[in-house]
Amino acid sequence: MRPVHVLPPSNCPVCDWLLVRSQVGTTASPDPPRAGDFTICWHCTAVLKFLPGLALREMQPADWEGLTTAERRDVEATRAAVRQARRGGQGLAGWVRP
Ligand SMILES: [Zn+2]
Repeated sequence: MRPVHVLPPSNCPVCDWLLVRSQVGTTASPDPPRAGDFTICWHCTAVLKFLPGLALREMQPADWEGLTTAERRDVEATRAAVRQARRGGQGLAGWVRP
């Protein structure tokens, strides 16, 4: 079981869903998320980026361009894991450290 991190409550900038917890992505370290990491909204599966203070904004094209192929795959794998977890009712959001 991957560790779950409590986040400062923050609303998804895409769908306004309140995000309060995060689960480590497929290749991320077990540390809590930090600025520059990515997370996936539990509700709409939008890819979001952590800003300083763990505020969230939607992933921009420049963010994707800054990732390696492996990191992009990791983001997509985490997104797929969130979709899978949603079906299982776990209520967690994944995050990825590039
Ligand atoms: Zn959302």
